[in-house]
Amino acid sequence: MLNIVIFGAPGSGKGTQSDKLIEHYNLFHISTGDVLRDNIRRGTELGQIAKGFIDQGQLVPDALIIDILAQVLDENKEKAQEGVIFDGFPRTIPQAEALEQLLAERGTQIDAVVGLEVPEEELIKRILLRGQMSGRADDNEETARKRLEVYHNQTSPLKAYYEEQGKYRAINGLGTIDGIFELIKETLDNN
Ligand code: AMP
Repeated sequence: MLNIVIFGAPGSGKGTQSDKLIEHYNLFHISTGDVLRDNIRRGTELGQIAKGFIDQGQLVPDALIIDILAQVLDENKEKAQEGVIFDGFPRTIPQAEALEQLLAERGTQIDAVVGLEVPEEELIKRILLRGQMSGRADDNEETARKRLEVYHNQTSPLKAYYEEQGKYRAINGLGTIDGIFELIKETLDNN
């Protein structure tokens, strides 16, 4: 079993590299952003609550997102047998602590945190390009800058948190998609 957190700022390539990791290691993908966007599309109550935060570039409250994560884990026990890739979660220290507990209760743990490191100017460029291609509502310049600020304030402390646990693996997130994936594979295969 291989449980990985794919970690990095908005636009660092988490979703893209997750797609390749899922295929290569046969992992179950949990993207909390995708779960929220799906709820917004379906017009659920959760979607309505989440939309307000997402459109402002803010994080959805921890208690809500932790509940969602526990539910997704429980609903997909079979599919998650080989392991899980957590994409966009955890984003705060309380979320990381909750994740540790949820996994411990299920007899497992995080094996590695793959940190995609990309300079700020490149992140903005990528987010705006994605916005043009996918029409993601929060991929506009104003919200992107807010999301990066939220990342620096609330999410980036997780790097030190996982470094202390010896789980953080820094990956240079600049380069070709396949080149970056090779670096990740090398790191995980030697984990
Ligand atoms: P993402 O697709 O991962 O970039 O997430 C898009 C938006 O969904 C974020 O800007 C947050 O508003 C919300 N979101 C996704 N995952 C989380 C999380 N783990 N904690 C809080 N908010 C989240």
